[in-house]
Amino acid sequence: PAAVAALDQVAARLARVLIDAEEELTALDRRVGDGDLGINLARGARAVLDARAHLQAESDASGYLRAVSQLVRHHVGGTSGPLYSILLLGMAESLEGAASPGADAWAGAFAAGVSRLRDIGGAAPGDRTMVDALVPAADAATAGHEIRDIAAAARTGAEGTAAISANLGRSSYVGDRVIGTPDPGAIAVAALLEGLAAVGT
Ligand code: ADP
Ligand code: MG
Ligand code: MG
Repeated sequence: PAAVAALDQVAARLARVLIDAEEELTALDRRVGDGDLGINLARGARAVLDARAHLQAESDASGYLRAVSQLVRHHVGGTSGPLYSILLLGMAESLEGAASPGADAWAGAFAAGVSRLRDIGGAAPGDRTMVDALVPAADAATAGHEIRDIAAAARTGAEGTAAISANLGRSSYVGDRVIGTPDPGAIAVAALLEGLAAVGT
């Protein structure tokens, strides 16, 4: 179906974004964490690219996202793996039964996924996590903004984490030494949404 083919193109594009960002994200995580974020996310991205033939056989966007959620759960380590997996599962559940979801459905699904991630991770905006990029992006999406503006909201949120110390995750052990370096997970979110904006979805 057309919705699956279009989603598959987007997934491949986002996978390549993560593979291209591997070194940058690992370098950031080395400064404020344990240096594995780029490796973790690139491993998941390669698993998605390897599974495309199977993913393309899914009958709708919901099934596709559910399958990617499982791949991420199996292949992405660290804290990011389970968090991205639940975000994708939340999106899949939100799109259940939607044959060809439109912009509103996608925005609602993204917001639902972010909400599920927050339930599991317990982070609020200002805790210096990927939530600092995801929440402004989900708000912009819910408000009906274009993907370029959604990505810009994520980038602003991600850059803003450089000014705050961490309350959660490994970066909280590093203390004020993180100041000046943005949260790697938030930067990854900004890169993903900018990749989406580049394809104009
Ligand atoms: P780990 O610290 O286990 O190595 P990763 O390197 O995979 O985890 O991911 C680190 C990123 O995870 C951080 O940069 C941050 O954005 C995000 N993160 C950490 N804890 C949380 C949380 N409780 N909720 C949301 N995101 C979090
Ligand atoms: Mg890490
Ligand atoms: Mg780790």
